[in-house]
Parts: sequence; structure tokens; C-alpha cells
Amino acid sequence: MIKNPMADEMRRFKGTDEKNPFEAMSERFDRAAQLLGLDPDLYAVMRVPSREIKVYIPVRMDSGHIEVFEGFRVQHNFARGPAKGGIRYAPDVTLDEVKALSAWMTWKCAVVNVPFGGGKGGIICNPHQMSIGELERLTRRYTAELIDFIGPDKDVPAPDMNTNEQTMAWIMDTYSMHARHTVTAVVTGKPVPIGGSLGRREATGRGLMFTVNEAIKRFNLTPEQTSVVVQGSGNVGGLGASLMHEYGYKITAISDINGGIYNKNGLDIPEVLSYLQMNKTLEGYKEADTVSNSEILELECDVLAPCATENQITSENAERLNCKILAEGANGPTTPKADQILHDKGVFVIPDILANAGGVTVSYFEWVQDRMGYFWSEDVVNQRLEEKMVASFNELSHFAQLHNVDSRTAAYMLAIDRVAYDTRMRGIYA
Ligand code: GLU
Repeated sequence: MIKNPMADEMRRFKGTDEKNPFEAMSERFDRAAQLLGLDPDLYAVMRVPSREIKVYIPVRMDSGHIEVFEGFRVQHNFARGPAKGGIRYAPDVTLDEVKALSAWMTWKCAVVNVPFGGGKGGIICNPHQMSIGELERLTRRYTAELIDFIGPDKDVPAPDMNTNEQTMAWIMDTYSMHARHTVTAVVTGKPVPIGGSLGRREATGRGLMFTVNEAIKRFNLTPEQTSVVVQGSGNVGGLGASLMHEYGYKITAISDINGGIYNKNGLDIPEVLSYLQMNKTLEGYKEADTVSNSEILELECDVLAPCATENQITSENAERLNCKILAEGANGPTTPKADQILHDKGVFVIPDILANAGGVTVSYFEWVQDRMGYFWSEDVVNQRLEEKMVASFNELSHFAQLHNVDSRTAAYMLAIDRVAYDTRMRGIYA
């Protein structure tokens, strides 16, 4: 019997905890690497991050005292270009989560074929309990701590959970103050007047819709015949639902962090979102039933779009999903154990590293525009985004068919294959 040179290594890393995102990522990576017959040297290099940076961030709070926050930036891979990926602010963010998210950025950028590696950042904090001044000081000091590690050719952060255009503007300004000149291309997702790109804010939701447009063709559905349930109403879920509603889809349910609403005849999404903005909750919205965030996942629909956070679909609830298509707007919403159950049920999965890649695709466009100093119209941005998403969807379908694997495995295989090729060509400096 030929000994698989990766077997020992794979056993050593084997995941045990279904909800550890880095283990979930590694399990999929291992499976795809094995199917590709990935060279053991490349395997060893590609399955770990290049760099994990941990910083302690002193912040003068409004009350006058200093509080020290813990922050991370993980740079997973540079084989195809600078590291790229968001920064999230949350009380429960962990290094393992950021490591997983950074690896997902590497595979995501490779799936849509943009010339970046992967990175991700996080700060353990409760942004909802901090003032705007505290958030600004936190962001600036975090940037100062990372000053040697980020830059347009090194690592380009972007927004993620609880960070936004304002956060990016502060990072850009802090970096520029240290560089002694304005460097717009150090971050993406900036406000449009200071080097941001038109269409960036809606890009993840719009990209999600473009992949759903392709997926429903497999079921001979038109948007008007397609019911969609969306978990989440932030940058991905809210804007995604809006765009899909405008395009003719019937959005039957949507939620925010506290729960959701359902109407089988479809919701008036612009009205729902303005209700949410005004009342800070969906509760009490008239023309709908109330559902919890776990119930929403089990509603009958054609497309289920989890657009909130990791580990929403697990071995515990996967069996009860009632959709034809799972469009993963969030990063890592499904665990590997749930994958198997969904596969057996015949659910078609648009994997996160494709479904939510619209954001980083337009981040790439923003970075290009900043470096050219020439800005595109919103139509050009949206049209190029559509081309990229549709081409990537079709490449992935083709790859899945060729290797006779499900779409998630195909996405990992395609991404790993691309990163492996570039790493092999560059050679490993070892
Ligand atoms: N945070 C987003 C993601 O998870 C965007 C990253 C970027 O644009 O760099 O894909």
C-alpha cells in the first residue's frame, strides 16, 4: 500500500470541535488537497498562515482612564499578491476565527482570480458600547501598531463586521500621517470622495445576487418565481435583500441580530429596512410573523441566504433546512458536518468563497482605481463585477463537473490549485 505522505500531518490537525472555524477550514482544505494530490511540501506551506500578529492597543477612554484592547492581524498567504481582507470588531472575536477568515480570503481571492493573498484582522471590543471618539482612537492606535505590516503592496485591510467606511478613512489617514503623504490604496471600502469606489458598499450583496441568478437557472426558475430567505440585515444581508427585491425576487423572510420576520407572500424590503433603521428592531413590523434566528433557517424557500456569521448551519439543524439553494453570504456559515447532510439532501450550495466574493472583487477594483488615480462610473464597476462573478460561477461549475465533486469541494480545489501553481512557480524560499 502506498503511504499517503500527508496522512500523519492530516491526523495531527484533524478537527474535533465542529464550531472551531479554523478546524472547519482545515478539514475542507485537507479534503481538497487530497483530491488534488497536492505535493506534500506545498501542502505543508499552504495550510498554515504566513504570519500571525497580536497587538495590545492602549486607548484613552472618554472617562479619562486607559483601557488596553487585544487585536490581531493574520496574513495567511502572499503567493498571488498582497494580503487582503477585512477587520472585525467584536467582543467574542478569537485568533482561531481570524486565522480561518484569513485563509478563506486567500481561497476567495483565488476563486475569483484577483491578484491578492489573504489576510484578516480583529479587535476584541464591544463597538456598540464605545463612543465614536473611542472607536477612532482604537482604530488609529491599532493601525499604528501594524504600520510596518500593512500597505498597498503588503496587506490591504477592508471593512468587515462592525467596521465601515469611517473606520477605513481613519486607517487611511493614520497610515498616511506616518508615511507623510496620502496613501489611498492602503485600505479599501473607503468613502467615495477620498479614494473609495462607487458600488463598493453594495458589492457583496450584489455579487451574491449575481451568483444566485446563475444558480436558479439550474432549477429552471426565474427571479419572480424564486422565494428567498435572508438571515442578517447588515451590509451583506440588508443590501443583498434590497437588490434582489429590486430585481424581482420574492424575499419572504429577513432577520437582524435579535430575530426576524416572515411573510410567505413576500416582504416589501425597502419598507422593512426603513422600519429597522427607525426602530432599531424588526419586532412589531405589521405585515409579518415573527421568527427566531434559528427558525428562519428552517423556513421553506427556494434560496436560503445566511448572511450573518459563522456556524449557523450545523449537524444539529442541517437536516431541517427546507431550501433548494444555499447561498452563503456570510463567511463560514456552514460546518463540514452539515455539508455532508446538505449534500445527501440534494441542496445546491453556492459556497461562501464564491457567493460573498463580490466585496473583495470590488475592493480589487478600488485598489486598481486608487493606484491609477482614475475612477470608474458605477455602471462600469457593476458590469465588471457581474462579469467576474458569472465567469467564476461557471468556472467552478465546470471544475465540479470535471472532478465529479460538490461545489464547495470544487471551490477549494480550484483555489488551492491556483495558489499551488503560483507557489510552485515562485519556488519555496526554504
Ligand atoms: N470583509 C469582506 C470579506 O470577508 C471584504 C474583504 C475585502 O474587501 O478585502 O470578504
